[in-house]
Amino acid sequence: MGRARAQGRFTSRTTTFFFAAFHVGAIVALFYFTWSALAVAVITYILAINVGIGMGYHRLLTHRGYKVPKWLEYTIAVCATLALEGGPIFWVATHRVHHQNSDHPGDPHTPREGTWWAHAGWILSGKAMHSETAILSRYAPDLAKDRFYVLLSKYHWIPLTTLGAVLLAIGGLPWLLWGIFLRVTLGLHATWLVNSATHLWGSRRFETRDDSRNNWWVALLTGGEGWHNNHHAHPVSARHGLAWYEVDPNYYGIWVLKTLGLAKQVKIAQFDPNDPKPAGA
Ligand SMILES: [Zn+2]
Ligand SMILES: [Zn+2]
Repeated sequence: MGRARAQGRFTSRTTTFFFAAFHVGAIVALFYFTWSALAVAVITYILAINVGIGMGYHRLLTHRGYKVPKWLEYTIAVCATLALEGGPIFWVATHRVHHQNSDHPGDPHTPREGTWWAHAGWILSGKAMHSETAILSRYAPDLAKDRFYVLLSKYHWIPLTTLGAVLLAIGGLPWLLWGIFLRVTLGLHATWLVNSATHLWGSRRFETRDDSRNNWWVALLTGGEGWHNNHHAHPVSARHGLAWYEVDPNYYGIWVLKTLGLAKQVKIAQFDPNDPKPAGA
């Protein structure tokens, strides 16, 4: 994987076309503002980016930082597909490769190969990875043997398309533009900033072997995913904000699930604040 591999194929015209269309839709949305459309955008953003990507694809499925009943795990994974970041097998495998090779050869999206590359370039030209099921499955064998995740990976666009049709039917064009086009576009950039900005700008609590940083404004946009140096140092920890001032809404969501008796075996990073060391060091 990495840049050479992705670019050895072709630039994905389909991916580029869809992302361009979503950006146009996002701009058009600004001319269709209503308060209810804004509320729809906020609710669907929280469901897709916080519950789906942050709590789900990332902390639950990639790193297994906590456990929930299967029905809830599947529901959270469906929420994640609403972010238009691909199916669970693609997302989880790519992210595990990122942790294995962070900012070294083989990292699918390191800013050492360019800021734009790390932000969006890797996904626009990396279409080949979506279909390389054999390679992806090697990094996500736990998901690849689960029929639900195989199906969801293949048809990951169906929940978002269905939601779009429902929003259009109930709230007309403003709900469709705000709940899908603008919301998805903002969510994509927020997630991509974790790959670009938090490997470039921010502070480092832990001396990790990568360039990861704790970036407060990316943390605000993503619900806590911006505490990325903490995360690279303690990848399995379900909690990324490790100081009281490091707000981590995605962890608060996991805490609520735990309080309700739904989340079990929630893993929290243990370290000495006076001598912070990465896990295993
Ligand atoms: Zn990273
Ligand atoms: Zn991670």
